[in-house]
Amino acid sequence: MDLAFTAEEQKFADDVRTFVKANLPADVRDKVKNGKHLGRDDYMRWQQALGKKGWLVYTWPKKHGGPGFTPAQRYIFENVCAEEYAPGIIPFGTKMVGPVIYTFGSDEQKAKFLPAIRESTVWWCQGYSEPGSGSDLASLRTKAEKHGDHYIVNGSKTWNTMGHWADWIFCLVRTDPKAKPQEGISFLLIDMKTPGITVKPIIMADGGHEVNEVFFDNVKVPVANLVGKENEGWTCAKFLLANERLGIAAVPQSKRGVEALKDIARAEQDNGKPLIENPSFAEKIADLEIQVTALEFTELRVLSQMAQGGQPGPEVSGLKIRGSEIQQRITELTMEAVGEYAAPYLPGLLWHGSNEEPVGPEYAHLTAPRYFNTRKTTIYGGSNEIQKGIISKMVLGL
Ligand SMILES: Cc1cc2nc3c(=O)[nH]c(=O)nc-3n(C[C@H](O)[C@H](O)[C@H](O)COP(=O)(O)OP(=O)(O)OC[C@H]3O[C@@H](n4cnc5c(N)ncnc54)[C@H](O)[C@@H]3O)c2cc1C
Repeated sequence: MDLAFTAEEQKFADDVRTFVKANLPADVRDKVKNGKHLGRDDYMRWQQALGKKGWLVYTWPKKHGGPGFTPAQRYIFENVCAEEYAPGIIPFGTKMVGPVIYTFGSDEQKAKFLPAIRESTVWWCQGYSEPGSGSDLASLRTKAEKHGDHYIVNGSKTWNTMGHWADWIFCLVRTDPKAKPQEGISFLLIDMKTPGITVKPIIMADGGHEVNEVFFDNVKVPVANLVGKENEGWTCAKFLLANERLGIAAVPQSKRGVEALKDIARAEQDNGKPLIENPSFAEKIADLEIQVTALEFTELRVLSQMAQGGQPGPEVSGLKIRGSEIQQRITELTMEAVGEYAAPYLPGLLWHGSNEEPVGPEYAHLTAPRYFNTRKTTIYGGSNEIQKGIISKMVLGL
């Protein structure tokens, strides 16, 4: 694999940087730079700018309205956006349901849903997990019963990320209770404004409202919103999960996190010297950087296999495990670096500020909430224990 960028690729990197500098709203950039919470409108303004340029769905092939980036362009795009403090693109439409619709959906569904995803005028959320059906997803019980030209949906979903901002939800529902667990599931698109849907917040360890419970009480959904065939939704579900895990590695964001950690280690004193001059701490940062670089090369290998026509396979489980552990490690070392300043933790600071004045240097204020928030990465997208199970079965043949 030749890793040097061509002159054309370098020109592409310059074009992306010029575009981001000109189109990323300054207030959104500042929030990302300072690790603050972003609202729906912040994400939408940036995503709509990308949509106008045709870059929002940068992973999609040209025939579905994507820009048809090569793996190198995709890599450059993600890295330049992260370096310029652009927010991460919300994946529920762009990387999850969009590819499911263009792969398994009808022509009518493609015409109805894909343009709004490309332009970011509709916010999607993911309705997979249920109370008691997370790792064992195929045991899900939310049921959809067919009545003529519509289904009646009853049940509940949980851990629904940003569902309180969503216009639509894609759901796995049970359409055949008598079939084997994986065989009786269907993939349904549901308008969140449909009567009978209730969204209730779940407050996370950092004090923020990011996830929800969603309840369905006799919700009427047109049969036209079924993607693929009835009872064959598990195929869509697995396809979507592989794409989800690929995105969770978050290498560009981790590179940015390591740089921020180094800045703190340069500012923090240890016996009168910058912490970064402490050999033991410097070694921890070096170890982390090596891990990020190794993950980056592994991700590039997977992307170049996909460019040759492959679908993401069990390798994405490895990316998910290492990527999520690295994100957590960054927050752990940052806690260590800021030391006692992380202790007076103000719940909710990351999300809605606090009436109390935080103490210590500004860079330390959000360290504890970010540490607590990042505990989620080894759980969502399929827990890391489950990913290890997939690797042992599919790669090691155990
Ligand atoms: C912040 C956050 C956001 C999320 N967002 C969404 C969302 O938008 N939409 C959505 O549908 N879901 C979402 N999820 C749900 C997520 O996918 C599940 O939490 C995850 O799949 C684990 O399921 P569970 O929570 O039911 O845990 P359980 O499945 O009950 O697992 C509990 C523990 O047991 C371990 N375990 C379970 N089975 C095995 C096994 N076979 N082998 C080894 N260990 C095992 C797990 O690793 C875990 O440590 C989100 C979760 C979080 C934390």
